[in-house]
Order: sequence, then structure tokens, then C-alpha cells
Amino acid sequence: MIVHNTGPCVRGCTIRGEHNPTCEGECRGCLPRPTAIGNLCQSCYNRVEYGLTELTVRVPWLEILGRNLAMNASAAPQDGETFMRGDPSEGSVLHAAFLRADEIRSDLDNWVGDVRDKRNLHGDPIDDPAKWLLPHLPWIADTDAAETFAGEVLRDVGQAMAWPTPADVEPSKHLDVPCPRCATIALVYTPPRWEGQPARVECTEPDCARVYTEDEWDEIKKLALLGVA
Ligand SMILES: [Zn+2]
Ligand SMILES: [Zn+2]
Ligand SMILES: [Zn+2]
Repeated sequence: MIVHNTGPCVRGCTIRGEHNPTCEGECRGCLPRPTAIGNLCQSCYNRVEYGLTELTVRVPWLEILGRNLAMNASAAPQDGETFMRGDPSEGSVLHAAFLRADEIRSDLDNWVGDVRDKRNLHGDPIDDPAKWLLPHLPWIADTDAAETFAGEVLRDVGQAMAWPTPADVEPSKHLDVPCPRCATIALVYTPPRWEGQPARVECTEPDCARVYTEDEWDEIKKLALLGVA
């Protein structure tokens, strides 16, 4: 149902430093922020739009991360973040990151279903519900579901951002230390891409191509510091 709201943002936002005439002070700002798009103020609208854009990237990433972490976990002692689901005899281990992606996806799928029903839209199942929802955001903001939708998207994106993406992690770097095997300056250090993954140090000289374990790398660092290497 469309509700044209010309009053304050339905999320109860206030303007910092601006006060109602009845304000008695000791307050960071209590004057309600007016709506800008539908029932949302500009700031809430922008945050939800940014949140949906982030989710188009973060959800598939959490699925990849979750699979990798689960593979790591099944080879190592359980880290308390993995869960068995389905038939335990199949040994399907799922990581919290994967489950979170699953929950977010199903939240968003529900909204897609809702918008399709109310706007009388039909179509095929979709891969990326966040991407699908983006162009419908002005319409959603104008309905009485704006507050709930904004709250859920912002919560989902907050949870998704608890896990690092590859871009948050430092990139691989060339090391100014000779390879202990071939003596070429060709070592590359790649930091862990997810928790539990070891760092990787490899020689990029094709004839050597030695890959060092973390213990060996610690030795190389020590020698380099001592000026021996
Ligand atoms: Zn105030
Ligand atoms: Zn607001
Ligand atoms: Zn080498």
C-alpha cells in the first residue's frame, strides 16, 4: 500500500544539532529529519541503496568464503563456527559465513516475492535478489513497508560486512629477499584470504617455483633480519 508521507522519516531519524522548541537540552539533536524519497529521509535512502549494492557483492562472496572455510574446518578441528546440516552421514559441513549468506538471500527473496505480488510482476527466478530490488527501491520507499525493508537491509549488510572481502585483505607483495633455494629475488608473499588459511610464500622464478611453508617463511624472515639471507 502506498502511503505518501510528507512528515518525518519513518525510521525516526533526527537532525544533529537541531532541536524541537520543547527540547530541554542535553541532546544531540531531536528535530525529526524530513522525508526525501517516499517515507525515508535522504540519508536512510542512500544507506539502503548503498546496502543493496554491497549485498550484490557480499552475498556471493560469503558463499565462496563459507565453502572454503568449511573445507578448511573439515580438515582441522571444529572451530565452533561450522555447522552440520542435512544428513550428517553426507558430512555436509557449513560455515557460519555460508549460513549467513543463506539467511540474507532468503530475506531478500521474500522481498522480491512481495514486490512482485504487489506490483503484479511476473518473471523467472532470479540469481541476485539485491540487484533485482535496486530499481524498485523508490517504489518500496513509498510504501508502508519502507521502515521494515530499510531495517532489514541495513541489518543484513551489517552482518555481511563482518567478514572481510578480498579487497579488504592486503594484496600479494614482492619480497626484497633472495629465495633460499635459487637465490633469485623472486619471492612473493600472499597473505591469508580468510581466517585459518596459511600465508603463502612462493618463488616466482619458473625454474625454482618453490613454495615455502609458514615455518620456513618465519626462518627466512629471521635470516633476512640478521642479514644472513
Ligand atoms: Zn534536542
Ligand atoms: Zn531516516
Ligand atoms: Zn627460488
